[in-house]
Amino acid sequence: MTAAAESTVTFGGLFARELAELAVPWQAEEAPSPALLVLNDKLAMDLGLDPQYLRSPEGVRLLVGNHVPAGATPVAQAYAGHQFGGYSPLLGDGRALLLGEVTDHNGRLLDVHLKGSGRTPFARAGDGRAVVGPMLREYIVSEAMHSLHIPTTRSLAVVATGRQVRRDDMLPGAVLARVASSHLRVGSFQYARATENADLLKRLADHAISRHYPRAADAANPYLALFGSVVSAQAELVARWMLVGFVHGVMNTDNMTISGETIDYGPCAFMDAFNPEAVYSSIDVGGRYAYANQPVLAEWNLARLAEAMLPLIDEDQEKAVAPAVEVLRGFRGQYSRAWTSGMTAKLGLKSGGGTGDEAAASSLVDDAIGILKDGPVDYTLFFRNLGKAARGELRPVRAMVLDLAAFDAWLERWQALQPDPELMDSVNPAYIPRNNLVEEALSAATGGDMGPLQQLLEAVTDPFSERPGLERYMQGPPEDFGSYMTFCGT
Ligand code: AMP
Ligand code: MG
Repeated sequence: MTAAAESTVTFGGLFARELAELAVPWQAEEAPSPALLVLNDKLAMDLGLDPQYLRSPEGVRLLVGNHVPAGATPVAQAYAGHQFGGYSPLLGDGRALLLGEVTDHNGRLLDVHLKGSGRTPFARAGDGRAVVGPMLREYIVSEAMHSLHIPTTRSLAVVATGRQVRRDDMLPGAVLARVASSHLRVGSFQYARATENADLLKRLADHAISRHYPRAADAANPYLALFGSVVSAQAELVARWMLVGFVHGVMNTDNMTISGETIDYGPCAFMDAFNPEAVYSSIDVGGRYAYANQPVLAEWNLARLAEAMLPLIDEDQEKAVAPAVEVLRGFRGQYSRAWTSGMTAKLGLKSGGGTGDEAAASSLVDDAIGILKDGPVDYTLFFRNLGKAARGELRPVRAMVLDLAAFDAWLERWQALQPDPELMDSVNPAYIPRNNLVEEALSAATGGDMGPLQQLLEAVTDPFSERPGLERYMQGPPEDFGSYMTFCGT
């Protein structure tokens, strides 16, 4: 297609310009035979990118970084990070490039970023590549998260490179094009702080304020306000993960954004049976990032952010500690308010009305968690079936629990509060990217059949409205699915 189709979009180089010390201009590795596997037409259009153009040979080359649009300066971003508690002073985009920023149809500035585009100066021992399975996995799960109204990076496309990549076996290589409100990480601040370049740290914070929290600029202490905004955004985000049963799997500080979007889908998974100790990552042997630990680890990461930001909060670092600690202390309350109000809605009950029902609702939430723990009960299906119970159809949810006498007593207390089934169906998804479905879609796709993946995407990108023909997407995993593990080093 024509260059005209492309020229409707300008790739800016704001990050590369304002934070040159964190940006290494770099080029993607040549993909021998790029082939588009999946394209997010709607997202492309929101960005002003013509899907027809992106399907053209030049467009596909753009999506792997081999056609650099006029004016764009692809860069690899530098960052540091605590990985499983241990500090790495230099991580950075080892296999990724920021193409630049574009403005979407709502006037929002968004990063377009490639993952799997070849070695960069940050690659260390890595090959700079990604493979089809995990990139499609990120595509499915991130788009599902977005459709669940959970802040997240988005997926624009996955392109197979035509190159075989060495993992345990030889696997087909791929590049994921993703879109984010930025790729600023807690680790970006850790890196800037470690350079001891006070001006760089300040420019990074100013960049973050102007892109994500412009109101912080008007606060008495803008940098303390920035920190507080990140604390709030992360408290809200992790509460939302918990409410849908999402386990991120690798909450290192380099995988935690300043914007409050979920980022870096690696060994992540939605739990089937409710299990606070759920871990799906083969490398998380200690269960550091288990389901129930996520709020605690988010708070731990935010403490690392606070340390990095201390010189901004007060010239006298001793004096910076107390206000930073006070802001960080707010995390627990904000998290638990977000979680409680989300759980209350999942039960179809009103919250925050100041009525006497609030205490009753809160004890119903506690007891519901007890019932789930006594399970095994499929977490997603339990709440969806409870919505049916709110409409008088008790059988599906009653069939899920073992201790019926206790459950019936709970149901009676719950029904007395007149749960709202419409509210329940708007917050309790029917369709999530269940592990067995994701695996099925990925193995078909790896064999060249994109049908199952497209069907799964259809289900999970409209998760709240039950549709005929999609029954099997609502079911828990087959009994022979076993215990699920995903593998890092993807
Ligand atoms: P992740 O666990 O995917 O968040 O990655 C952690 C760090 O390892 C980041 O700095 C990545 O850029 C880098 N990395 C992961 N896989 C590769 C790879 N195959 N080649 C080069 N760098 C990689
Ligand atoms: Mg990462």
